[in-house]
Amino acid sequence: MEDMIKRLNKLSTFIRLKVDSHLPRHCLLCLDTGQTTSICSACRDDFPSTVNGCEICGQSIKTQLYSTQRNQICGHCLTRPPAFSKAVFAFDYRFPLPSIIRQLKYHERGYWAKPLAQAAYSHFQQAFSQLNQAVLVPVPMHSSQYYSRRDNHAQLLAKHLALYSGFPVNTKLVAKTRATPRQAELTAKMRRRNVRNSFAINMTPPESPIIIIDDVMTTGSTIDAIAVQLLKAGATEVFGFSVARRSVE
Ligand SMILES: [Zn+2]
Ligand SMILES: [Zn+2]
Repeated sequence: MEDMIKRLNKLSTFIRLKVDSHLPRHCLLCLDTGQTTSICSACRDDFPSTVNGCEICGQSIKTQLYSTQRNQICGHCLTRPPAFSKAVFAFDYRFPLPSIIRQLKYHERGYWAKPLAQAAYSHFQQAFSQLNQAVLVPVPMHSSQYYSRRDNHAQLLAKHLALYSGFPVNTKLVAKTRATPRQAELTAKMRRRNVRNSFAINMTPPESPIIIIDDVMTTGSTIDAIAVQLLKAGATEVFGFSVARRSVE
């Protein structure tokens, strides 16, 4: 009898899993049923869009003083041009993105990577449509960070963007050689100093352009620090893509 119950239980689990994978899903945000994607189109349309800012770093331009007539380029990029050609982001770092990204980053909720990448992909596609080929490089974490966080969230995002775009991912090209304090608590100047010389290039960069992938970008100093090293190592061109942009105060 006991044996039979065990077998029935096993069978019901098997059937439940089979049925579940064919059932329409709930939207992870509004719990609306009958969805084919993890974030429904209504919730995705509510994601905070960005205003057009600097053509290079994406930051909003507060004063026209620093922008020329034809190109909107911020004062920072005019006086200190970054090593990357252009940094692109999909959304502003406002509700609901901070909580989603925190879940992905610090609470091992890896299932957020796919819907985030899915939501951000149209922006990615629009920004990089002129590239026939590119290699996606997620911002690496220092080995000590793997103890506190199991997955590299940038790597998870890159993996899904690779599936949508068809561009390969290279997780071995760049390594983080020095653990650095979290960028979020630092000023722009401290951020640059914080990440300078903290990345190493492990192999000859590919000939095709490189797109560095991150979850949140603020001043772009992390992407810039990696781009400096990549260009020194022989990369042809480096871009940046992040799901969200946090504005500089
Ligand atoms: Zn929804
Ligand atoms: Zn700029």
